[in-house]
Amino acid sequence: MNTNEQTIIVWFRSDLRIEDNPALFEAAKEGRIIPVFIWSPEEEDMSPGAATRWWLHQSIKSLTESLEKLGTTLVLRTGESIKNLEKLAKDTGAKGVYWNRRYEPMIRRRDDEIACQLRQAGLTVKTFKASLLAEPEEIENKSGLPFKVFTPFWKHCLKKLNASTPLPAPQKVEPPKVSLRTTELSELNLEPEQDWGHSMNEVWTPGERGAASALELFINDSFNDYAKIRNFPNTKGTSRLSPHLRFGEISPRQIKHSLEQSGHAHWKESHYLSEIGWREFGYHLLYHFPHTVREPLRPQFNRFPWKENSPQLRSWQKGQTGYPLVDAGMRELWATGWMHNRVRMVVASFLVKHLLIHWRHGADWFWDTLVDADLASNTQGWQWTAGSGADAAPYFRIFNPTTQAIKFDPEGDYIRKWVPELRHMSAPDIFEPSKVDRGQNYPNPIVDHSDARDRALKAYEKTKA
Ligand SMILES: Cc1cc2nc3c(=O)[nH]c(=O)nc-3n(C[C@H](O)[C@H](O)[C@H](O)COP(=O)(O)OP(=O)(O)OC[C@H]3O[C@@H](n4cnc5c(N)ncnc54)[C@H](O)[C@@H]3O)c2cc1C
Repeated sequence: MNTNEQTIIVWFRSDLRIEDNPALFEAAKEGRIIPVFIWSPEEEDMSPGAATRWWLHQSIKSLTESLEKLGTTLVLRTGESIKNLEKLAKDTGAKGVYWNRRYEPMIRRRDDEIACQLRQAGLTVKTFKASLLAEPEEIENKSGLPFKVFTPFWKHCLKKLNASTPLPAPQKVEPPKVSLRTTELSELNLEPEQDWGHSMNEVWTPGERGAASALELFINDSFNDYAKIRNFPNTKGTSRLSPHLRFGEISPRQIKHSLEQSGHAHWKESHYLSEIGWREFGYHLLYHFPHTVREPLRPQFNRFPWKENSPQLRSWQKGQTGYPLVDAGMRELWATGWMHNRVRMVVASFLVKHLLIHWRHGADWFWDTLVDADLASNTQGWQWTAGSGADAAPYFRIFNPTTQAIKFDPEGDYIRKWVPELRHMSAPDIFEPSKVDRGQNYPNPIVDHSDARDRALKAYEKTKA
């Protein structure tokens, strides 16, 4: 510890870890630390959904335990962030507030204002990069503009990727001299009222240790075959790190470093690292085009003739469309808070192209039900699917949910797992809405694929007018 000991507030936000946490690491060098988490959902661009609240509850619990082991207690507060920070500083005589940066539009504005107010009050404010490999404003094309196409963006990022290694957790943290009131975690009311957490508990281990084991398992078992198996929803072919990344229980730098250390020769060019790159790209787009959270990046999509159809939206949300792969995905999402990327693309395409329902409705449902719901990746995923985003899937490429199932769930195992009404069926009949047995109350298809396809292509013409 520094002999000119100071007290620093470390404001935890989407960085719920003690390893490779620059704000915590730097603050620990200065002296005493007050780690604080402030629950202020009304300050967010979109108030966190039910699934992320569940995860947050578990993640805060895990962070609290980690900090206890280091010798300090996480202070929990609710309400306006600035008021809480000012009061904490006053009550403890803290000299500074450190935090790791976030990039959502409203949060950036809020953080700038908070930094300004705290500095005016004489406090030192330091902020750090912790959740991305490259800061969005550091990456620009030759004309000095943001990238709108992934491949050149990622090539550019790879060139800039430096050899920095993750920071260790501080060995010991000095608590503040005064004892501080903290809100009970249960008072945050983050856990769902219905018995939803139970099924999620079986699938996930939120927290920094859960993240580290998921990464280790993935590197040992699946990294080598990732490019081959990542599209098959019934395999454990992907890392399932998305909720851990969402809450900052692991950093992209830790992932990059572990790949590097794993001895795999082509880790840098690997398909896996490029998926981490898609996450970076989402943040790049969100930073430079913040309006895309609600509006299309490509303005011609403002002319798209979206349809309001609540009964069909409800059927989609409940996994009752009569298309087995779509229903399997939507039910996996409801039960576990997660859905495989291939299936996310299929269900999202079904909503916007087969049903012509605005992608915002889909994004909102995902926001509420995904444990990894993330403003950058969710916005990018939906705009990409709708054809209105950067580097988007062309609108006229319409996924056929039946052929997608044949290709990516060839034995029908994934469908059987999530759609119990079809458990007695086998491939190929299980894929085809017109052939599945409806005796077990499985619904009729809510639209006919080829009619829906023709209708979508006609609707797309409007964007060209
Ligand atoms: C409509 C739609 C909505 C989506 N919403 C979200 C969301 O809210 N939050 C979210 O984290 N991801 C979202 N994705 C991206 C992707 O589906 C998930 O990141 C991925 O399925 C997570 O599983 P994994 O961790 O096993 O991924 P892996 O295949 O193991 O990939 C490793 C990591 O790379 C990142 N990644 C992988 N694919 C993508 C991608 N296409 N776009 C951005 N980052 C990616 C994730 O952080 C992921 O954890 C969405 C995709 C679509 C099509």
